[in-house]
Amino acid sequence: MGDWALSDFVIITGLNKSFMNNIKIQCRACRTQFPFSGPISACPTCGGGWLDARYARVEELTRDNGASQWTAVLAQRGASLWRYRELLPIQHDENIVTLGEGWTPLIRAHNLGLMLGHNHIYIKDERQGPTGSFKDRQAAVAISTMKEAGITEAVVSSTGNVAIAYSAYCARAGIKLWAFVTSSVPADKMREVALYGSEVIKVAGTYDQAKQIAADFAASKGLFLDRGIKAVAAKEAMKTVAFEVAEQLGSIAAGHDASIPHGNRHPWRAPDWYLQAVSGGLGPVGVMKGFAELGAMGLIHHMPKLACFQSSGCAPMANSFQKGLSQAENILTPLTDITTLATGVPGEAYEVLRELITAYGGLIEAIPDADAFHALHAVAKIDGISIEPATAVAFAGLFKLVREGTIRPDDMVVINCSGHTFPVEKHIIGDQYMRSMAPVYGQAAATHSREEGLLTALEELDNRVQRIAIIEDNPDATRLIRRILQAQGDFLIDEAANGLDGLRLIQQTRPNLVILDLMMPGLDGFGLVEALKAEPALHEIPIIVVTAKELSPIERQRLDGKIKALLQKGSFLDSDLLSDIRQALP
Ligand SMILES: *Cc1c(COP(=O)(O)O)cnc(C)c1O
Ligand SMILES: [Zn+2]
Repeated sequence: MGDWALSDFVIITGLNKSFMNNIKIQCRACRTQFPFSGPISACPTCGGGWLDARYARVEELTRDNGASQWTAVLAQRGASLWRYRELLPIQHDENIVTLGEGWTPLIRAHNLGLMLGHNHIYIKDERQGPTGSFKDRQAAVAISTMKEAGITEAVVSSTGNVAIAYSAYCARAGIKLWAFVTSSVPADKMREVALYGSEVIKVAGTYDQAKQIAADFAASKGLFLDRGIKAVAAKEAMKTVAFEVAEQLGSIAAGHDASIPHGNRHPWRAPDWYLQAVSGGLGPVGVMKGFAELGAMGLIHHMPKLACFQSSGCAPMANSFQKGLSQAENILTPLTDITTLATGVPGEAYEVLRELITAYGGLIEAIPDADAFHALHAVAKIDGISIEPATAVAFAGLFKLVREGTIRPDDMVVINCSGHTFPVEKHIIGDQYMRSMAPVYGQAAATHSREEGLLTALEELDNRVQRIAIIEDNPDATRLIRRILQAQGDFLIDEAANGLDGLRLIQQTRPNLVILDLMMPGLDGFGLVEALKAEPALHEIPIIVVTAKELSPIERQRLDGKIKALLQKGSFLDSDLLSDIRQALP
């Protein structure tokens, strides 16, 4: 079994003596391999900057049932990214700087899935990391390698989230950090960087200019410069997303709880798609490296397709990909409000992503900011997840791929979800989002009774006038439609689960609008439409049909002229329904 043995994993110290043999660095440009001895800035042979870790152990794990012994050891380990310790580039455990990163939840997008007609959309909730983005992984591994190398001062450039994560981990490691950010990084994010004790340098320019200035500063001061995607640590960190997803999907496929790490209790599984909003490209490059290592070990049996999305105001990779270019055309003046994604000069990352997509399938697409902001609202209101605009770009991409059929209904989809809305986007809900209440107390209350004043005030809180009836026998569909209406705020909603109850409800409540399913037991939707049209008191109530049924020409004729809109279940977005409702209401 070579130098890889079960004892290596049980007694981690046993691992250390073979560590140096296990990990090698490979230069992307000249393919030379050399031993790993901490962070370096370039290939000693050709000067190439893009360096990757290669593990002898991955190859050994493919033999002699090695992988199953590894997963057996994993079954004993806790829920953090360090459970995959053997395949991370840290030599001694005592150098690990941790805040409990990794093993974030994989959450099924229940309601969004219902809206999109897609059952297998899973959200890798990286918001739940220590500083709220998947940069926590990168920080944990990169700062640990810095600590191991004895580095006490470092320089980083960032569109925001890296600066925050690095600052937190540097604080713990006792490393002074110089964080170069662009002036478009939201003030709340910069303040958080400063709170952790980092020096914040705001550069009035693009991210790519800030990056250059950071490099010049580090060179002139002789300080360690974090090289992000080109360095080993960052990619190694991101591959743990793939490890976790494959382990978690294994639980889900077996019908078990994905929040408990299981190691070898279920077969691991790759998703069919990995989706992410992309700036520098580190996430997808690292994640695909992770899936490739799992594939080499025989733990998964196919690679996911890769869907990368950029903001159309700064989409050098998407544009170059669409044009079929082998090298990216740079964007020198980014025109996006989504600062996190404002890398205009992608460099080698584009070439690597394009190679991955050529090998395994996928795409890079540009998403208009407006679509992203719509998705941000929808994800929050429909599934209770508040995301930053950068992540919303990926969700808008998901909506697009599902609707156009690129992602098929039975594909297993994982989407990377990082960053909360409000540090980034204060104005997303305008300033009319609250209702104020001033119940009468004190002097004034003496003249009225106090309860009376309070009741009047409470009464004014809810003055909804438009009444909508939902007639639908599928409780999931009812819940989704109700949720879309509720989130709009101003409708009174009644429900019935079949045609006859629906008719009675409509007779009693005289709603302003009926939302109707077609296939229901007893009196179906067609019958109900005809019954309403036959009753003079009810025949003017507008009807919107929401159905899963493919209508035949005769069925269409039955509805013709009698309904205001027809929506196909699983292929309308919340905004489509709301705009049909606005048009149908008197
Ligand atoms: C960093 C970041 C991205 C872009 O990630 P890359 O993989 O580096 O391109 C997207 N969304 C959020 C929220 C991020 O923090
Ligand atoms: Zn080289």
